[in-house]
Amino acid sequence: MEEEAPSTNSADKDQASSCCWDELASSLYAVKSPESFSYIKTYPCAVNPVIQVHEDIIALPLTGHGAEIIKQADKNANVQNGTQVALDEGINSVWKLDAKKFNLLNPDWSSFLRTGLDDACEGLGITESVDIQPYELLLCEQGGFYQWRHKMRETMRMVAMLAIYLPSAHQGGEIRLRYGGKRCTFDTSKSSMFTTRALAWSSNAAYDEEKLLSGRRLMLIYKIVDKSATENSSSHIDQPIEIVGRALHQCATKVPNFSAKIYLLDYHYPRVELILDKLKGHDRAVGDALNELCAGHGLHFFLGRLDTQRTTLGSSATDSGTCESLFSVELLDGFHGVHIAKNVLFTKDQLINDPHRDGRVADISPSFRGRLSRGAAAIICPTIHLPSYLYPPQNANFHNIILVVLRDIVYKPSAQGHPGDYLRVLREMVDSTHFPELSPGTFSKVLKWAWGKRYVSLFWKIISREIGLRVDPERMSAIAHIINADILENADIAQIQWDRYFSGVFCHTQDFKNVTLNLEIVQNRIRDDLKLSFEGWKKPIQQHIFRKKLSLNLGDVDYLLHSVMPAKESLDWVLNCIVPALRAQDRRDLLRMCICLLLERRENGSLANAKEIADKIILYTYRTAALETVDFDGEAYLSSLAKGFRDLIGSCLHAGLKTAVIMLLDASWTNIAPQHANPGALPLKECSANIKEFLQDLGGLLKDHNFPYISSTKEIFKLLIRRYVYAEAPTYPEKLPGWTHKLRGCGCEICLELDKFLQSEFLIKTEFSVGDTSHLKSRLPRDVFRFVHKPTEQRADLRVYWVYKIKGKEFQQDAESYNEQVLEFEKYFEALRNDYMQGLFGEADYRHLIMLEKVQNSEGQKQLKVAAAAARKKGLRMPPLSDSDDERSKKRRLK
Ligand SMILES: [Zn+2]
Repeated sequence: MEEEAPSTNSADKDQASSCCWDELASSLYAVKSPESFSYIKTYPCAVNPVIQVHEDIIALPLTGHGAEIIKQADKNANVQNGTQVALDEGINSVWKLDAKKFNLLNPDWSSFLRTGLDDACEGLGITESVDIQPYELLLCEQGGFYQWRHKMRETMRMVAMLAIYLPSAHQGGEIRLRYGGKRCTFDTSKSSMFTTRALAWSSNAAYDEEKLLSGRRLMLIYKIVDKSATENSSSHIDQPIEIVGRALHQCATKVPNFSAKIYLLDYHYPRVELILDKLKGHDRAVGDALNELCAGHGLHFFLGRLDTQRTTLGSSATDSGTCESLFSVELLDGFHGVHIAKNVLFTKDQLINDPHRDGRVADISPSFRGRLSRGAAAIICPTIHLPSYLYPPQNANFHNIILVVLRDIVYKPSAQGHPGDYLRVLREMVDSTHFPELSPGTFSKVLKWAWGKRYVSLFWKIISREIGLRVDPERMSAIAHIINADILENADIAQIQWDRYFSGVFCHTQDFKNVTLNLEIVQNRIRDDLKLSFEGWKKPIQQHIFRKKLSLNLGDVDYLLHSVMPAKESLDWVLNCIVPALRAQDRRDLLRMCICLLLERRENGSLANAKEIADKIILYTYRTAALETVDFDGEAYLSSLAKGFRDLIGSCLHAGLKTAVIMLLDASWTNIAPQHANPGALPLKECSANIKEFLQDLGGLLKDHNFPYISSTKEIFKLLIRRYVYAEAPTYPEKLPGWTHKLRGCGCEICLELDKFLQSEFLIKTEFSVGDTSHLKSRLPRDVFRFVHKPTEQRADLRVYWVYKIKGKEFQQDAESYNEQVLEFEKYFEALRNDYMQGLFGEADYRHLIMLEKVQNSEGQKQLKVAAAAARKKGLRMPPLSDSDDERSKKRRLK
């Protein structure tokens, strides 16, 4: 298929092809407005033909007795001869006798028939020499109807049909005739008991009846045949529409890759009236003919509106000598007039006619250009070119194109001759990212067509587009319906190949939940005897989709655990599907939650072997599920991954999975330790708040379950507390010698002087001369220093102050502030001060890291001292305590 837009096509330049376009144009000029394809006349004084069937005469108006005679004769008649051209569906209420089975006894009937034939020929515009041949006698009763379709090969010589409706009372049974897109309806019920009517119609027209509502209808049917034509010739009366058909056939076969051709219509139309039904005069005949015929030749018919603004005739370069002028057209669907695409560019050599040159219009615009700029056109293009209108800048309406294609596929029997074209079109469209969401009805139609034609890849493609999008009972029912019908026809129920229907559907990543629910719907709607087989096929598919899903969420896991997984196969599901998927995606959070969910099912009794499964999962995945350093990241502990780990440990402890917990904690230490191998490494510096909560939480949990002391737990606690908790301990203030104070200057000139004073061990007071005292006062708190104004040497711009040190006050303040900090700092450790932790840490580490033995003035330190004193009283030896814990020695111990 050509990728480019139709405007650039130039494949159809050879002479032969231009010739066939001329032929098409002239055949379109010749096509008659199908006003005259049918003709009806009432004959109030018609004679009675006097129908004889076997030995009986059928009375008119028709009676019940007469009808019985005909029915009887129909039953006796040989069943169906092979050459009949009628399609009769209301068969149970229709009886017919072919011409050999009855006689018309009235000698005046033939002259009446001649009159009827002459009227019909005049009415239909038949000028050739014709003959009339009896065809059949047809009786229709309530509920019955009759259809007649032209079959080309058998009716080469046939020009028209003539039906004579004999007096017989009936209601309903409207007759519809269709020809070249034009429709007529006739009602024979009025005065049907007394009236004879003759209806003639072109043999190319389609004849349909509504069901007869009551009574009976009796008709004599004749064929009108061309006397001069022989059975094998096609030179019978040349129906203009057939010539158009032949011309289209020529064009489509000789120039199979032409992109589009334009036939300019006689009239101009406002946008709203550019629709088949509203075309005027000869334009209507052209539109009807193309609308009827195009699909049968693999072509598509559009109406087009030439765009005034975009028409740029005569100005472009014409190197080749031919006119390459471009003009832009808005494409509308030929039948409904709905928008298809805009700004579709055409060149002048895509035109197949020039109404002005051809003397068709002597109207307003003398120039070709003038007409083009406002004109309307009929456009034909090969069906396979439809997708080319989808590309920008043509501003195509995807949905309308799909509808147009479907209409052809479903409603135009003639389109069935070119299924491959439609397949290409639909495939290309389905592959497009702009493919619209199909309505359930449309979805079902396309699907049925694709399956009917065995275009399985298209069938799969369409399903796969929809099945993961949403839960969709209507569309899934359509699939189930197709499956039911197909299996009814073809398959051995014992060996259904479900992949036939779905094999290509799940190649791409799909939403697990939607697919599962949708497959369930299909399963519910297929025949009962297929359900078990479907179930067996569905399971591995679901597992496959789950494993392949690009990103999993808790909803997926939860849904799988609670809704999909049958209890008896749960271990299989977990090991073959959940675990590999979670591991592959490195989703330790989901893995942890999944185990928790499973253990929850043990708790509520909904899955008997939940504990065993969870244990198995951990055995396979404990390295993935274990704590990672980065798990502490997050705004808050509750939303961090570490909380998920803690919950996992909690669930496991609760379920008594001790070994699993040991494996998880060991693996966690293995994960965390390397990142802290360097003694100064603090990868979690920002997360100390989360770490604190986690350790308290985990510590409480282990204590409550009296979990055995294992070295990995101990190491995790020690490491995290040392680096991130204990390290934040406040430093006890330094007592400075003599009158020395801490430096308080900001670095400015006056502060340098100030610092010198503060640093001095011996200076008690000093003198400052400053213009503005506020800076100085802001650096020296009033309760540690005293300001005395020196009244002498007063100058307007200078003040002189004595500043005095107050001895011991500074240290006292620092110590108070330190004590407050220790109080705050120590709060954290209270939750960890218990026998369990003492056992876990061991005496020395517990005293140091939890009791804060070396943190001056801490409550823990005091308690230890009291305990030591008590022990001494009892004569027991306790390890000596150091008095203070300065910064340097603390750092040393941390190493
Ligand atoms: Zn300063």
